[in-house]
Amino acid sequence: MKKIKLKDVEGIVFDFDGTLAEIKIDFPAIYIKVHELIKEYGIDPTKLKEVYLIELITEVAEILGVEAGTKFHGAATGLVVTEEILSAKGSSLFEGVRELISKLKDMSIKVGIVTRNCADAVLMVYPEIEQEVDVFLPRDAVKFIKPNPQHLKGALSVLGIDGGRAVMVGDHPIDIISAHRVGMFPVGVLTGNSTEAELTDAGAKIVLPSAMDLLNQYYF
Ligand SMILES: [Mg+2]
Repeated sequence: MKKIKLKDVEGIVFDFDGTLAEIKIDFPAIYIKVHELIKEYGIDPTKLKEVYLIELITEVAEILGVEAGTKFHGAATGLVVTEEILSAKGSSLFEGVRELISKLKDMSIKVGIVTRNCADAVLMVYPEIEQEVDVFLPRDAVKFIKPNPQHLKGALSVLGIDGGRAVMVGDHPIDIISAHRVGMFPVGVLTGNSTEAELTDAGAKIVLPSAMDLLNQYYF
């Protein structure tokens, strides 16, 4: 991967929770609730192949077939969304995020936000998101979510830029893996729940204390 200067970057795509806003969501608690629901439908959650929550819900729904699967999918997604909305009420953007986005746009760098969270929860934390960024793709706006490459490809396509001229910034190994899959330059940030080692092991080229430090980074 070639090193590029910030001024030559055409677009920066950010993850949301843990990258631009505080993470308040209690993922272990949701996992327990969803696992309980899976057991109620007669399936052993330890026998499933998917690891991530949303993909796990889809896998179970497919096993259950159309009728029970649709019912399960609605109930499980309801549990997730309820927790996401609840968490959003106690969360806020990190200081300097809106200024960062505005400065990047002043530099003619396009800005996107791609998240596995639902639109309603993100809008509660950042109501002006759709006016202030060039593309916002929450979970409910796409068919496949990251680490599936379609999620970032969708964002790049709306921005009209190539992965090789774009940076992906995220707090989780999923973000870093996703960036590699579409040829974007992967930048990790330490404002979420992952350590520098976890982000580097996933393939992060640089790890910054926070997204706001992007402005002090002239060479990628
Ligand atoms: Mg995150």
